[in-house]
Amino acid sequence: MERVIIVRYCEIHLKGKNRGYFERIFMNNLEKALTGIRHEIRRPSGRYIVEAFDPSRTEEIIARLCKVFGTHTLSVAYQVPADLEEIYRAVQLVAPQSGSFKVQANRADKRFPLHSMQINAEIGGRLLAERPALCVDVHVPQNTVYIDIRENGTALVFSELIKGAGGMPVGTSGRGMLLLSGGIDSPVAGHMIAKRGMKLDCIHFHSYPYTNMQAREKVTELARILAQYTGGLELHVIRVTHIQEAIHKNCPEEMMITLLRRFMMRIAEQLACRVGAQCIVTGESLGQVASQTVEGMTSSNAVVRSMPVLRPLVGFDKTEIIERSRAIGTFETSILPYEDCCTVFLPKHPLIRPELKKVEAAEDRLDVSALIEEAMASLETLSI
Ligand code: ATP
Ligand code: MG
Repeated sequence: MERVIIVRYCEIHLKGKNRGYFERIFMNNLEKALTGIRHEIRRPSGRYIVEAFDPSRTEEIIARLCKVFGTHTLSVAYQVPADLEEIYRAVQLVAPQSGSFKVQANRADKRFPLHSMQINAEIGGRLLAERPALCVDVHVPQNTVYIDIRENGTALVFSELIKGAGGMPVGTSGRGMLLLSGGIDSPVAGHMIAKRGMKLDCIHFHSYPYTNMQAREKVTELARILAQYTGGLELHVIRVTHIQEAIHKNCPEEMMITLLRRFMMRIAEQLACRVGAQCIVTGESLGQVASQTVEGMTSSNAVVRSMPVLRPLVGFDKTEIIERSRAIGTFETSILPYEDCCTVFLPKHPLIRPELKKVEAAEDRLDVSALIEEAMASLETLSI
């Protein structure tokens, strides 16, 4: 009797002719998630079976696989020879001691002597006789014991369906450049977009020495958590201190954030082009703070020429974002105190509805391309 894990995928089967492509990427992502753990993955029709692993690592494997997008549900199952006695021994291990239950058999191998209904009756009958606190409920049972008689002479026996991460396999929806701050929102935005199958790069802007190494370590940790969902990612770190100083010196105080955002967008676009990313992703949410008005977004979109800016959180409340952040495991890191580069030289009254013409006029006082060039020269890339 071998312990195995069944992985069922979602949405992929909707992709018709591309199915093979989606399945290969998904398989690859499963393999990546299990790096460092001995295992084998097989792909009989319609699902994946992880086997040949050390049973004491089952929980760890499940935890990792639960983060692979494209996973609909998972089950820890016993794989046994397709023989009624062997099957019943496995059923005894997964079936409840009390409460209502039903047996749901599925016979892919039509050579098996009993058909599905007969298997249900036989196994259910034995369980009832052995466990007096059990009762059968075929409509809404508290527990279901699944028996899958397969074509290769084995059967899978399990009783639990664990919810997977959902979404589409990372790598099937292109590549995006996520503006990753140390805050709550941007990691959630990255998670949402990765869930739709997008591979991510992250770009983080810092203002050393105004911001310190802890801020940087914090962002690295956030990227590490995100990377568990994306099968690794690149974190690009760029210094913008000189840009903030130049804005501070030459432009109206209240435009600091508006102007800095435009620099961030330009730099993100340049880097995206360099690494082959096709869009920019931010954690902005409409009206959340002064700079996240539609006018603010107009001003920052205006400098991006060749790609869309995706803002997956645009319609979310902060409480909804926090909920998601807890669920994906970034919240505790995000709330650690730190200085974001945006809080350096923070204006007392930031512009809420910047007018594009005025913003551009203020920006004319800066040597935009020289400032960007200097920022690009500070680029450090970490593979996570
Ligand atoms: P977050 O919680 O993601 O920091 P926020 O509510 O604090 O968001 P802002 O600080 O206004 O909002 O930032 C809006 C978006 O701009 C962020 O979600 C992020 O995508 C991007 N951003 C802000 N600061 C940085 C930074 N230092 N490096 C990279 N991107 C940043
Ligand atoms: Mg922030």
